[in-house]
Amino acid sequence: MKICIIGTGYVGLVTGTCFAELGNQVICIDNDKQKISRLKAQIMPIYEPRLEELVKRNFKEKRLFFSPSIKEGIGFADVIFIAVGTPQGPNGEADLSYVEDVAKQIALNMSSYKLIVEKSTVPVETGEWVEHTIRVNNKRKVKFDVASNPEFLREGSAIEDFMHPDRIVLGVESKKAKDILIELYKPLNAPIVITDIKSAEIIKHASNSFLAMKISFINAISNICERVGADVVKVAEGMGLDRRIGRSFLEAGVGYGGSCFPKDIEAFIRISEKSGFDFELLKIVKKINDEQKNKFIKKIEDTLWILKNKTIGILGLSFKPGTDDMRSAPSIDIIRKLKEGGAKIKAFDPQAIEKAAAVIKGIKFCKDVYEVARGSDCLVIVTDWNEFKELDFDKIKSLLKQPIILDGRNIYEPERMKKEGFQYICIGRR
Ligand code: NAD
Repeated sequence: MKICIIGTGYVGLVTGTCFAELGNQVICIDNDKQKISRLKAQIMPIYEPRLEELVKRNFKEKRLFFSPSIKEGIGFADVIFIAVGTPQGPNGEADLSYVEDVAKQIALNMSSYKLIVEKSTVPVETGEWVEHTIRVNNKRKVKFDVASNPEFLREGSAIEDFMHPDRIVLGVESKKAKDILIELYKPLNAPIVITDIKSAEIIKHASNSFLAMKISFINAISNICERVGADVVKVAEGMGLDRRIGRSFLEAGVGYGGSCFPKDIEAFIRISEKSGFDFELLKIVKKINDEQKNKFIKKIEDTLWILKNKTIGILGLSFKPGTDDMRSAPSIDIIRKLKEGGAKIKAFDPQAIEKAAAVIKGIKFCKDVYEVARGSDCLVIVTDWNEFKELDFDKIKSLLKQPIILDGRNIYEPERMKKEGFQYICIGRR
């Protein structure tokens, strides 16, 4: 098939590359001209495992193209995916101005049938607005369909998730749209949920909200565990083996961040309000998440007593391991608060330093864990990169001023860390 992806970010680039890998002809469009020129020169705008290899192969084999011209993309393809950003607007609602702009451009530039697919995460009823926008700008009365195909990939394992999804959700209102999308996704051999557009839109927001709820739930449990001396990791294991509950997303920590959960939860709260339903549960999910970060900062303060002129070594900056994405990363707020208290910060991340340097100023970025440890009063783990799981603890102890590790992701066993000679403070366990 001939496919156009509008918005070549984390989702658009992965989606376009994977569709090309499946044998389609794909053009990826972005209005960031520099991003497109760099992609044409095979320079990746993001870090994502295996992405570079797949982009290079499909570009070389002429299945994957890049262009800043939306007109060129629309002329080239029969199926157009909208994968632009839908960031949080000032009142918490999703800002859909990029989606509207793209819908208008599609209408103005199409001259034959197009299937326009929402890939971006959008509030319910956006499909209707996209259809409306295209219809009123479609002066030549060209035939088109709108469909919803929300994306569930996770940064850090995006290619793997795209190629082996748990399910594919198709919100369609015509047989033609349904047939095209089923054909496109056939090679993945994954379960397909076919529904109307509004239900598909809600599936995405409801799924993200449910996952965020699991994280806040276990974080709330971690608070009880800390108070009574229980172990949240064992509690999660005991709960998670129940197939009705499941083990994933029951990791207590400093809370969720990233480009999706915070904005999507906020947007879903607003959508519910607009529909006349007060989704109180989600408001609490958000509140627990915010508090969790602050409680961790308080633990650092309580451990070091005075922050002023102390040096704090931060391990991990990206919002989760496997990505360089810094959007709404908990590290940003944690570092800001510690700096406000007068602490000096040294930090290391295996992939995110370049992006972190653009949003976090006045700290020292280091080349590895050991440079962070040298002369620091404690180490603070914010992102659970695999690289941090096996370290030379003797060396770290000799480099730190005090043998203190505060672990916001529970990556070590407390018993082991005590044996290694550390004061080890983690989440919901001792
Ligand atoms: P992103 O910011 O990485 O990418 C968006 C891209 O769209 C940018 O490169 C931007 O320059 C481009 N763009 C904006 N307006 C444009 C226009 N008018 N024409 C052409 N290009 C334009 O965002 P992302 O993380 O890829 O997210 C995209 C959407 O997918 C969002 O709705 C997000 O919620 C959703 N989503 C993201 C993830 C994720 O893990 N990042 C997962 C599932 C769904």
